[in-house]
Amino acid sequence: MRLFSRLIFAGVVLASSWSAPALADTVTVYSARNEQLLKPLLDRYSKETGTEIKLLTANEGALLARLKAEAESTPADLLITVDAGNLWLAAQQGQLRALNSAVLERNIPPHLRDPDNQWFGLSVRARTIVYNKAAVQRTELSTYEDLAAPKWKGRLCLRTSKKVYNQSLVALMISELGEAKTEAIVRGWVANLKTDPFPDDTSLLKALAAGQCDVGIVNTYYLGRLLVKEPRFPVGLFWANQNDGGVHVNVSGAGITKHAKNPAGAQKLIEYLSMEAAQNFYVDEDLEFPANPKVQANSIVKNWGPFKPNLVNVAKAGELQVAATRLMDRAGYK
Ligand code: FE
Repeated sequence: MRLFSRLIFAGVVLASSWSAPALADTVTVYSARNEQLLKPLLDRYSKETGTEIKLLTANEGALLARLKAEAESTPADLLITVDAGNLWLAAQQGQLRALNSAVLERNIPPHLRDPDNQWFGLSVRARTIVYNKAAVQRTELSTYEDLAAPKWKGRLCLRTSKKVYNQSLVALMISELGEAKTEAIVRGWVANLKTDPFPDDTSLLKALAAGQCDVGIVNTYYLGRLLVKEPRFPVGLFWANQNDGGVHVNVSGAGITKHAKNPAGAQKLIEYLSMEAAQNFYVDEDLEFPANPKVQANSIVKNWGPFKPNLVNVAKAGELQVAATRLMDRAGYK
């Protein structure tokens, strides 16, 4: 009997000493990114490193609520999401931890990461002006501000102000131009709207192609995806504000969770995502811009030519998100 219990004990010790390295080689990822994009990239990482990745995909609001509810017991090691506004909010709510990584500091430019190193941009999205090629000459276009001018009355289409992309755009405008000037611009946009704001960028682009409106503002990868399917899609892209502040850019990115069980594993994964092989994946599969400046954009994206990005730190998008939402409400931007 004593031998038997000793054997059980030995078995337990053996099992736990065997399962310890397996545990350390598992990274649990909470992601708000499209699983089709992220999964193949994570699968490749698993194959190359032997690390098991557990992936949970949900929208960013649900993931943040879940992190909060799970607190210390969360299985999540890494949070991956789009928009600096969302990453900022996760950090603000105490869900992330600072990470000192020479690899990330080398691969990700300072304006694309949190000043306190709690999150890092991994891909760049540019939000700029798009137009119906038959209705608009490029010489008529210039800035986001100009879309508030009377010449665009009844010609502008926008996506809903409920989407974080537009909240971040307006937040970044507030940081640059101040609240009063930004409000006047947003009021001008609302006065110029052809129709109610669209639920997403793709339906806005299709309305432009159909001639329902003449100009709009979208993230470029949505146009890229339509061009892959239909190379003659009749919507042009114009880089806004090239003579002043530059095009508004935002990021998708990641941060290690406050209560990560495997922070070292999470750090290796986020570093991998900043390196050239993974960056090429973002560039070719999702038609975003690389966050790592050593990596080249996809050829469809390169066709739009080089542009000057706005270099305001994208963390401002989060800091001013509430102010932006209130401003859009006041201006009647639905
Ligand atoms: Fe998007």
